[in-house]
This record gives sequence, C-alpha cells and structure tokens, in this order.
Amino acid sequence: MKLIFLSLLSLSICCIITAQNTVIKAGHLFDSKTGKMLTDQIIIIKDGKILDVGTNLKYTTKDTLIDLSTSWVLPGLMDCHVHITDNNPYRKTNRGLHDSYFMESSAFRALRGGYVAEQFLMNGFTTIKEIGNDANYATADVIKAIKEGWVKGPTIFYAGKIIAPYGGQSRGVNIENEHAWEFEYIDADTPEEIKKAVRKNIYYGANVIKMVTGDNGIYDVEDIKAAVEEAKKYGLKVTVHVADKAGATNVIEGGAAAIEHGFGLDNIQLQLMKDKGTFLVGTDFSFDNWYSYGLDSATATTLTNKIIDRLKRAYTIGTKMAFGTDIIIDIPGLNRVQTSLKVLQTWKAAEIPAAYILQTMTVYAAELLGVEKSKGMIAPTFIADIIALKNNPLEDIDAVKNVAFVMKNGKIIKQ
Ligand SMILES: [Zn+2]
Repeated sequence: MKLIFLSLLSLSICCIITAQNTVIKAGHLFDSKTGKMLTDQIIIIKDGKILDVGTNLKYTTKDTLIDLSTSWVLPGLMDCHVHITDNNPYRKTNRGLHDSYFMESSAFRALRGGYVAEQFLMNGFTTIKEIGNDANYATADVIKAIKEGWVKGPTIFYAGKIIAPYGGQSRGVNIENEHAWEFEYIDADTPEEIKKAVRKNIYYGANVIKMVTGDNGIYDVEDIKAAVEEAKKYGLKVTVHVADKAGATNVIEGGAAAIEHGFGLDNIQLQLMKDKGTFLVGTDFSFDNWYSYGLDSATATTLTNKIIDRLKRAYTIGTKMAFGTDIIIDIPGLNRVQTSLKVLQTWKAAEIPAAYILQTMTVYAAELLGVEKSKGMIAPTFIADIIALKNNPLEDIDAVKNVAFVMKNGKIIKQ
C-alpha cells in the first residue's frame, strides 16, 4: 500500500514538473494567414503544440521562456520540391541519370539524404516534400533514421519512385539496358499499371504520389484520374512534373493536386488551374541555378526570363502557388539550402510581394500537403514548428537566409 502511495506521489510530482509550458516572446510575428506582421506576441507551447498566441498572455516562472523580442518569428518554412539524396554533377550530361546509378549506391544516397535533411532543418525548413529520384527508396531510410533520432531532419513528405510513361525521364538508352531507369522510376502506361505503381510506392513508405508527363509520352486524363483516385483511397495527393506545358491540361482536368515546374504554362492553363484549385510548384530557378547546371550564359538567361514571365502571369491570374526549389546540384561553396534559396532572385525579379512568398512557404504549402489544420500557421492547436529571423522578411525576403532559431514539434533545434 505504502509503495503504491509513494509511486503515485512520484508520478504526480513528475507530472507537475513536466506540465510546464514553453513560452516564446516574439517581438514580431508573421501571421501567415493574413500576410501581416504582428508585434509583441506571446506564444505558449505545450506537448509540441501551440496552446495559445496573443498579446499579454499570462505565464509563470516555471515556464521555459525563450526571448525572441528582437527577432521576426515565423511558422517553420516548407519546400515542396526537394531531392535530398541527390547532388549530382553527372546530371550535367544527358547520361547523368544513369551514370549516377552506377557510381552511387542507395546506401550512399541515404547518407547524403541525412546530411542534406539536416541542412534544411537548421536553415528553417521544418517540412519538405521529397519528390523522387532518390535511388532505391533511399529517403524511406532517411525518414526512419530521423524518427530514431540518429540524424536531424525536417518532417518529410515522400513520393517514392516516380511514376512515368515507359522510359522514365531517360533519353537514348539502348535496348539491352531498357530497365536501367527503373532504379528511380516505375514504368506505368495504363490506368491499371498506374494504380499498381501507386500501391507499390505506398508499400515502401510514400505519402504523396509523383508522376511525370511530357518527357517520354503524355498521360491521358484517364491515366491521371486513375492515380488520383487510387491515391485518394489512402488519403494521398498526386503531383505531376510538367517541364514546359505539354500534358498540363490533362493533369489539371485529371484532378492532380499540383503541377511541378510548368515553365511554359500558358494563361489558359494557369486560369484552369485557378478554377480547379490546382497548385503550381514553380521550382523557379535563377540564372545562378541554371548556370551551375552547366548551361551557357545565354541559355540560362533565356530560361530564367521565361520563368520570371510565367511567375508573373501565375501571380496576376491568381493560380495557387506553393514554394518549391528542386535543386540537385549545389553551387560550389554553398550548401543545399543556400543554393535552393537562389530561386528568390527569380521571385524578386517577378516583383512578387514578400508576404506572398512567405505564404507560399507556409500556409499555402501546408494546404497543398493536406496539413493546413496543423502546419503553416502559428495558431492554437497547430504543431509548434517555429523559426526566427534576424531581419524583417517583409522588407527583404532574403532575410529568410539568416535563421537564428528553429523549433520543430515544440523542441528547440537551433538557438
Ligand atoms: Zn525535381
């Protein structure tokens, strides 16, 4: 009896000690829903979630206080198009995909994935969408390692292998090596094959489905619908790579959640996306990004100007957008996030307001990922993914390159 009483007592003492909250004093707080910067806010965090946020909230000396009164506090950032296991100079050549398969094992790719995942987290990206080209499901192991606590990384939405018409994104492979691309792609050319490919990816850990159209063959509306309906059974969304514009209308009409890239989308397609609620994840490469991929200066300039034009048109039309970068070759001297954030040059050149860019990195990205009720905002019941910047991002969006504080799931990662 005495023993039971004592253990109950120690349990209650333990609960009193762990019941304390974490409190953030935010000098400036970005309200991602309205795009406005609030001042002098208090954020109260308990058990990894935001309990309350507002001015003059009460807290006690038992609470853990984090003073960010001279900082700009934002929801954790999200990048909706990354390839964490890849950093691949081979891809400067047409044979790049296949050279990488011979030179780098899935194990090596997973190790790189852990290294890059940590870079994303430490630079303020608490959520990323890993979108394929990750060897033989290497990212599935990165996700496990993060859960085990072996490596630090953001929450990862994961696509598994890319589902594509015959040939993946390969060009010119001889018939004796016709299956080589299946290292990173699943050939699927009918609605039934597409459904099977969706199920296979889910089996190996995918929680978002990625397809490619327009590189080697174009999917019909029925093909896209097959993927969308199969994925929907398991609560997942489908996103589709459309490099330029071919096949985009089928993707939109088929009900996909997003188009990735879409560098050549015309105004009719952008309007149709707006009407259907299809997101654009624009992967808006800057000149520096193209140049680092080995393009000559004239071609890099042409492509960059094309993307600036598409970005401007999408913004004017009102197509929903979520931020995505798509970097697979780091610029020498820069890490993955520093290289990725070069895309901000393109957003600035297109004169997109900083508040809107931040919304594509937070609240709109959360909507695309289907987590708009738990991520992308600093609001009661939301997961406590919170970052702080040293400068005001509404004055200059480049302030997101200087992250002073990172919290993921209520745990301080960087301070
Ligand atoms: Zn990509």
